[in-house]
Amino acid sequence: MPTPNPTPSSSAIPPGWDVIIGLEVHAQIASNSKLFSRAATTPYAEANTQVSFIDAALPGVLPRPNQACINQAIITALGLNGNIQLYSRFDRKHYFYPDLPQGYQISQYHHPISLGGFVAIQDENGNDKNVRVTRLHMEQDAGKSVHDLMPDATAIDLNRSGVALMEIVFEPDLTSSQQAVNLMRTLRNLLRYLGSCDGNMEAGNLRADVNVSVRRSGAPLGTRCELKNLNSMRFIQQAIDYEAQRQIDCIENGETIIQQTRLFDTQQGRTHAMRSKEEAHDYRYFPDPDLPPLVLEQTHIDALKEQMPELPQQRYQRFIDSYKLKPADAALLTSDKSTADYFENALDNRDAPTVARWILGALKGLLNKDNTDIDSSPIQPSALGKLIDLVDNGTLSERIAKDVLNDMAESGEDAPTIVQRKNLAQISDSDTLGKIIDTILAQHQDKVAAYHNGKEQLFGFFVGETMRATQGKANPQTANALLKDKLKAQ
Ligand code: ADP
Ligand code: MG
Repeated sequence: MPTPNPTPSSSAIPPGWDVIIGLEVHAQIASNSKLFSRAATTPYAEANTQVSFIDAALPGVLPRPNQACINQAIITALGLNGNIQLYSRFDRKHYFYPDLPQGYQISQYHHPISLGGFVAIQDENGNDKNVRVTRLHMEQDAGKSVHDLMPDATAIDLNRSGVALMEIVFEPDLTSSQQAVNLMRTLRNLLRYLGSCDGNMEAGNLRADVNVSVRRSGAPLGTRCELKNLNSMRFIQQAIDYEAQRQIDCIENGETIIQQTRLFDTQQGRTHAMRSKEEAHDYRYFPDPDLPPLVLEQTHIDALKEQMPELPQQRYQRFIDSYKLKPADAALLTSDKSTADYFENALDNRDAPTVARWILGALKGLLNKDNTDIDSSPIQPSALGKLIDLVDNGTLSERIAKDVLNDMAESGEDAPTIVQRKNLAQISDSDTLGKIIDTILAQHQDKVAAYHNGKEQLFGFFVGETMRATQGKANPQTANALLKDKLKAQ
């Protein structure tokens, strides 16, 4: 499926060098409650109002897995073409963070819920490429340290403590920052179709740790650095481009790359060292004694497979087959679930290519101008549909309809109201138009004569005059036909 590619191409890697990138993506599972507690996960809630005894790690409490979260992980793994493991297990990963009251994170290390799979993306040249998935596992999120609330203390908000995450680890198959961004876009769209993560990167619900290494072309893989917690497409691109160049400069200066965890400074556009890379044994992983292994029935997985929602690739094909859309338009519409939903809501038996053209053209233009997206569109799908109807039935010309669209966004009124208030309806009535044309021809007898003497290009002049006299509202087809008849009769 030709995924459209709105990101500008990345800064060039110098010839003779390869950049290799592998992503570890954290996606917050869309769920009403947490992975091992019944506390709510409502976004932007007041600090520490969604914290159970389990999330605060009080002594004597026991975690209990949330089946809804497990189902979301299974559905996601199916969408990634992964192999669901009938046996998986939860481990404790030990480390100290002030916002991690347990002193460990429950994660799946030795036995993740899914292994393998792939995501189909496009590379920077528009060629198809499969990016292999290493694994998908579930884990808990930590709380949040708030440093800017009090001048001499750090506040802790545990609302996020225990929220369910999926970590999706990819093989180092990417060879440019552009491919990394394309993978994130494709993945975000897939998660939204699946309904397993809202994909909101700004809120931190989808974020990536990006591993970057460089090598001289054809040489074995180089040492990688991991760039933590990137939560926008732009930052992913900038951080990779900066880091690849930094590593190349290091090597060219005779230095060796040390495996490191680095942070991207979004202000300065640079990465800097955070800590030397920890190893698995540093975390003292061991199976969580409070949780039995997670044993799944194949019948349960099959039942979830049956209920899988339509995925982007299928919807793309359906848009071509049932709506006769051009592949490029079908790709543009389905590459963003909200846009595809909008399209189908606006459709309501209208001509599909026409509705697609309005959404991808005038509506997108308007949203871009207002720096907003289709989810916050000031114009509802049914309202756009009604505007299209007015063009279709000859009330409005395309050009005036575009003005009406802008007016709809500003005033919040629907198209028929605006057309009436501003008296914009196209004049298609032959009697009315005929009288206007008679007047014009009478005023320009010299030009009528010239026209009959062979100056046929004057026809355009008469059309122009008719439009002027009607403030652009004359129906072009009717006006043309009437002009031809009346000139002939003169
Ligand atoms: P760890 O468990 O220590 O994080 P992994 O081997 O599981 O290490 O790799 C983590 C991530 O690093 C994966 O996404 C993988 O694709 C990526 N990666 C591994 N080797 C390289 C490399 N040489 N260059 C870039 N990325 C790499
Ligand atoms: Mg890792």
